[in-house]
Amino acid sequence: MTNSNTPLLPEMAEIWQQTLNWQPNTQQQAKFQQLYELILAGNSQLNLTRITEPQEFWEKHLWDSLRGIVLKKQFIESLQKGASVIDIGTGAGFPGIPVGMIMVNSQITLLDSTRKKIAFIDKVLTAIELSNCKTLVGRVEEIGQQTQHRQTYDLVLIRAVGTASECAEYSLPLLKQGGLAVIYRGTWTEEETTALQNAVKQLGGEIASIEQFTTPLTNSIRHCLYLRKVATTPPQFPRAVGIPHQKPL
Ligand code: SAM
Repeated sequence: MTNSNTPLLPEMAEIWQQTLNWQPNTQQQAKFQQLYELILAGNSQLNLTRITEPQEFWEKHLWDSLRGIVLKKQFIESLQKGASVIDIGTGAGFPGIPVGMIMVNSQITLLDSTRKKIAFIDKVLTAIELSNCKTLVGRVEEIGQQTQHRQTYDLVLIRAVGTASECAEYSLPLLKQGGLAVIYRGTWTEEETTALQNAVKQLGGEIASIEQFTTPLTNSIRHCLYLRKVATTPPQFPRAVGIPHQKPL
């Protein structure tokens, strides 16, 4: 059901096809619209996102969220029965909710430390009937030390939560061996790669690839950093709440 006061999101079928070799079906497009309407409505009480114009929402929330995983088809398909996925610091549900809409056989955990945001997402998940997504409230530094979460995920997603080495410290402990973390970034430099390499090595990971691309409507620069877990993460990581941020590896 759509709300007649909210503008319609553009469909962009050709752009989806050209850039990601994928396009949403009618049901997925309807869910995108519902998500957009719920977020605009939620924005009046919660500070969910500054990105509210339809084209901008399409590009910076929907397209950007899916760009990180859609081109990793081989990896995604290798997870036969569906993957166990966690989105760290999901905020209003990005990238986790759009990813949940297309990885329908996977279980997506949407984690955030802000209870109000998670309460909002719970309502969204019910409204858009996304039964493969569930929420979790907590600080990732603590969640990463809990046996029910540590080393249990095939795929970790993390966008706009901190520096790359902070994100690596949050992500790698949660991954199973062989699993992949996707760190969504804007700009990126060679020097940052060197610093990240050092952090990733200490955490039992390696940089699998770094992809640079531009967004399809505004040509904004983006990077996705893909980290693979190749060894057990030492038990001291992630360090206590706030330390990965204050003293990055
Ligand atoms: N990932 C979303 C996006 O890209 O639109 C939201 C990004 S928002 C800038 C960062 C989010 O991470 C906030 O909702 C915040 O509450 C959450 N966050 C920050 N530090 C966290 C931590 N240590 N553990 C869990 N969530 C955290």
